[in-house]
Amino acid sequence: MTRTSPVPPLDLPALFPGLSAFAKTATRLHPRRGEPDRSDSHVGGLLLWPAEEPWPTCEELHVVATETPVPPVPPLSTPSPELMAGLATMVPGFAGYTTTDAGSFLRGSTVQVQPGPLVPVAQLRAGDIPDVRCPPGTDMLQVLWCPNTHGEHSGPAIEVRWRQERSVVNVLPAAPPVTASEEHYLPRRCVVHPEQVVEFPDDEELPDDLGERVRAFEDSRQYGEESYSSVSRAPGWKVGGYPSWGVTGLIPMLCDGCHSPMDLLLTISSSEHRGAAWFPVEDAHVPESWGDPAWTVLTKPTGVTAGNEDGLRIFVCTACPEWPIRVR
Ligand SMILES: [Zn+2]
Ligand SMILES: [Zn+2]
Repeated sequence: MTRTSPVPPLDLPALFPGLSAFAKTATRLHPRRGEPDRSDSHVGGLLLWPAEEPWPTCEELHVVATETPVPPVPPLSTPSPELMAGLATMVPGFAGYTTTDAGSFLRGSTVQVQPGPLVPVAQLRAGDIPDVRCPPGTDMLQVLWCPNTHGEHSGPAIEVRWRQERSVVNVLPAAPPVTASEEHYLPRRCVVHPEQVVEFPDDEELPDDLGERVRAFEDSRQYGEESYSSVSRAPGWKVGGYPSWGVTGLIPMLCDGCHSPMDLLLTISSSEHRGAAWFPVEDAHVPESWGDPAWTVLTKPTGVTAGNEDGLRIFVCTACPEWPIRVR
């Protein structure tokens, strides 16, 4: 089944003369649980990986959560600073305590080296996804990450590979088993339903006068569902288009090598849903009901929680020959 974004509730180019010059296409992936073939475009699942190419592993330090049983600690809503200071000396990376029927536990974390294989995040064929960027001679983007939290960044360590589909002759039958992971970094197997849409930039990325007009409009709309920020960029997993900077404010993404502005390659999102403006018409009959499994499968099909509310974004520099990436 295809997935179709509704007609936008606002005609942004008509509301903001001059805006149409900034229109850019994005491809919404609309991932849904399924059993994709390894040669399809998909999220999670198996990759079309050459048997002769080593599978990437992560050798970085991983933050590993710990729970240390201790004598009963009273479940206080506002524990005294003295109590917390005392507990904090007992475990590394102290993050609080939990008291349950099973006893009291101090929550902490340690930083360890646990080398492990990366896991497939997405495989995107240029033939399926109009906005996917591939260097000359390649037609497939593969994204993998280490499914652990890393000391120096907030999220998983990401690796991208571009390849030419038909040059993969001997296919690796299966990815190596995962050794250590956090559940929310293990994408469920999903098929994708690519849909190309039109997006407009965050108001901070517009010229001053246009940005000012957008901000005045937003103030009048209370940043609700029929606001510029809701309508100008699609939520969920998408290829290309524009990033949202609502959480952090604009962070210019410039290439470390050549200082050129980088392009948004892929957005990995914790939720497909952000109000009605972008909710697919094919799914509109499903009532919004957080906690209902049917709603969860629709809005959080990949099971991934990564990045902030604006998602985890992979940017690429196409001016440098090796197409370096940055993640934000
Ligand atoms: Zn790692
Ligand atoms: Zn560059």
